[in-house]
Amino acid sequence: MNSETALGRRDFLQTLSVAGAAVVVGGDLPWSRSEAAEHPPAALSSPSWVEKPMRWAQLTLVEDDPGKFDLPFWLDYFKRTRSDAVCLSAGGCVAYYPTRVPFHHRSQWLGDRDVFGELVAGCRKLGMVVIARTDPHATYDDAQAAHPDWIAVDAEGRPQRHWASPEMWVTCGLGPYNFEFMTDVHREIMTRYRVDGIFINRWDGSGMCFCDYCRRNFREASGEDLPRSNDPQAPARRAYILWRQARLFDLWQRWDAEVRRINPDACVIPNTGGGATSSLDMRRIGELAPTLIADRQARRGLTPPWANGKNGKEFRATMGRKPIVGIFSVGVEEPYRWKDSVQSAAEIQLWAADGMANGLRPWFTKFSGVLHDDRWLKPVEDLYRRYADWEKYLRNEAPLARVAIVYSQQTAWFCGARTEDHTLGWYQALVEARIPFEMVHDRLLDFGHLGAFKTLILPNLAALSVEQCRQLQDFVARGGGLVATHETSLFDEWGVKRKELGLASLFGVSFKGRTVGPMQNSYLRLETDPATGKRHPLLAGLEDAPRIINGVHCVEVEATLPFPHPPLTLIPSYPDLPMEKVYPRVPKTDVPQVYLRESGQGRVVYFPWDIDRTFWEVLCVDHFKLLRNAVQWATNEAPVATVSGPGVLDVTVWRQKDSMTVHLVNLTNPMMMKGPIRELIPIGEQKVRVRLPATARVRKVHLLAAGKNPRVDRVGEWLTVTVPSILDHEVLAIDL
Ligand SMILES: [Zn+2]
Repeated sequence: MNSETALGRRDFLQTLSVAGAAVVVGGDLPWSRSEAAEHPPAALSSPSWVEKPMRWAQLTLVEDDPGKFDLPFWLDYFKRTRSDAVCLSAGGCVAYYPTRVPFHHRSQWLGDRDVFGELVAGCRKLGMVVIARTDPHATYDDAQAAHPDWIAVDAEGRPQRHWASPEMWVTCGLGPYNFEFMTDVHREIMTRYRVDGIFINRWDGSGMCFCDYCRRNFREASGEDLPRSNDPQAPARRAYILWRQARLFDLWQRWDAEVRRINPDACVIPNTGGGATSSLDMRRIGELAPTLIADRQARRGLTPPWANGKNGKEFRATMGRKPIVGIFSVGVEEPYRWKDSVQSAAEIQLWAADGMANGLRPWFTKFSGVLHDDRWLKPVEDLYRRYADWEKYLRNEAPLARVAIVYSQQTAWFCGARTEDHTLGWYQALVEARIPFEMVHDRLLDFGHLGAFKTLILPNLAALSVEQCRQLQDFVARGGGLVATHETSLFDEWGVKRKELGLASLFGVSFKGRTVGPMQNSYLRLETDPATGKRHPLLAGLEDAPRIINGVHCVEVEATLPFPHPPLTLIPSYPDLPMEKVYPRVPKTDVPQVYLRESGQGRVVYFPWDIDRTFWEVLCVDHFKLLRNAVQWATNEAPVATVSGPGVLDVTVWRQKDSMTVHLVNLTNPMMMKGPIRELIPIGEQKVRVRLPATARVRKVHLLAAGKNPRVDRVGEWLTVTVPSILDHEVLAIDL
């Protein structure tokens, strides 16, 4: 880091702490701590019910539902689906009970009924956990007239009408509307109904707000005006990224404290979170939330079918063993928001299955109590009844994966979106390779969080602090494997570029000061060790390949340690037009394009180029093989499970109290990479080998979907089972 940026950063820190209000940045990590967080309320216990529900239902009423929708039908459906928890519309934009909070808008169709109360009573009779849903993101003219400070204001100073319902106003997420009015609403709901929790949708504002309140508060906290630039290196933008979070975490804690004051066995569940691109610190969320709802309802565009499971892994990275619930929609989730649509049964089924295989407890969501299209009812009922039958094997205690992808919110926030396409490339490669894996949050790299893992993958993890680099070095020193790509550690935790890679000594290279790309028509030569006549295991499956395509961007480095016989060397770009000119000018160099080394018991692989991002863009099978082989070489131990046979499977391995399971989700489908799926297509025989705990006695082995007890071969710690066919989701369950 040069002195200029160091000074800039010190100024920033001083500014924030001198201002002394909401944003305090401590240590060498750029994370916000709110005042409330510094003085946390007495330890937040988990409500006693959070472990119980395994199958959630959600009914979000629309304003004209009261008097129209068939309440007994819904109660019957909850019963038929064996749902054990429900989220019901209560208030916010529309109140479905006779509220007394001023400006809390009662449904115009409510009359003197209490529809929410009737639903709560009915669901309680079914023994369900019941939580109330609120949505604070919009309000009406009367509220706007009396409380103009409740309304969001755009960058030009204009109060914002609602983009989809123009008779409404968009509310400010960080001001008195949420902090005062919605606190009153939540207090009233909890007092009247003593529900088990309150789920709050769209609570974090609708884009940036420039109201007087936000401008004043931000200035007091940071000494800056609200940022007009999106550049994360601009001091005001940086401060805003942190300040907004501090406000929202304060709001969360305020609502939670109010709700628990009335019902100590309740909590609030703000709809929040995600992976690297989430704007709220997942680590802080993991500390605050006793349970959380992962809201990735369906795929859209080019979303792969494993994206629901990815959400589960990302949440688990900071939630640990706390229950994580995955919302899935029965409708089409495209930008045109066909909220009353129904998508194909096969698509719903596979999306939910991949979430379940990755530890998400399912939550179906339906908007509108009146059904315009009921084709989803049967598929969801079938799915839920299946999960109810399997319940014992779905109550996971821990994943058994030995490999983990690290994700980095600080890289996404402060370096722009440098990391996500790299992560997606790795995710696809590991699914194709059938390697069970987890995800890890980059601010949880301590021994406790990494103890279960043998190998960590750093997909262009650009922003890493000195402390994080040290933790990764310790991981390798303890015998861990590390596979890193491209600009990993080239920036500090603030996204400020370094002169040298933070992990230079671990990689055995030095940064030459330049990142090149996009490169056209460049290749990699696959080398053979002249001494042995053999190729490195990194090149397994590429025995007949003299060269393969290169990536698109590359960090220029030079070795600082000896790397004899590098398996991949550079063939530099040469013209790709006119065709007559397309011949290599330099057919061979000795510039390595991968750096593999053993370091004590640990192993390190560094690709200076964007192999993972290029794989996600191009999906070249040669790159897939390199990614797979790199993980296998770095891991240097027998995997916990192997599954061989045709097709694409998402494989996850879990331990329960008295059993272990291998989930096999069949993603093999012509619509795999662009949904929705039309039909489920069975794949043929798979041979599953599982490594058992050394002293384990196997009592029984089941195939849950097939409903069979397969033939089992056991040799030492290895158990082998043949699965004849998989339609959508098979679970090999081993009673121990
Ligand atoms: Zn505001």
